Amino acid sequence: MVSKRIVLTFPHNLLDKPVVYKLVKDFNLTFNILQARVTPEEEGLLVLELSGGKEDYEKGIKYLTDLDVKIQPLSKDVTRDDDKCTQCGACVTICPTGALHLDKKTMKVEFDSKKCIACELCVKTCPPRAMLVKF
Ligand code: SF4
Ligand code: SF4
Repeated sequence: MVSKRIVLTFPHNLLDKPVVYKLVKDFNLTFNILQARVTPEEEGLLVLELSGGKEDYEKGIKYLTDLDVKIQPLSKDVTRDDDKCTQCGACVTICPTGALHLDKKTMKVEFDSKKCIACELCVKTCPPRAMLVKF
């Protein structure tokens, strides 16, 4: 049995195709969608936990790569050093998943690590270098 958290990036021409449905139907895989959105470049971004038998899992991954779906493992962790964060908000618009977001009640920038796909965009953007990559 294999179970992995992965990030799938779909080219524009696959956005309306039942790709994930086929993973279930043809490869007996199960999935739990953690995040789904269309990027400004009109690519589909899907973060999911994909599980199944080892052979089925490998066939499912091959099916995706044959379709030109980019697959990135969630192997890195991004964290925030709250002491360094100045609440400048620069990361909020750049974060593609909403992991960094403005809490409208407190007007503070919150970091939800469960939504983070470790794209590292905030790491480069954060002026005081409060966002850190752990390997
Ligand atoms: S690395 Fe930063 S920008 Fe990328 S998803 Fe995580 S919090 Fe958002
Ligand atoms: S860019 Fe950095 S300092 Fe600014 S709110 Fe985001 S984490 Fe905090």
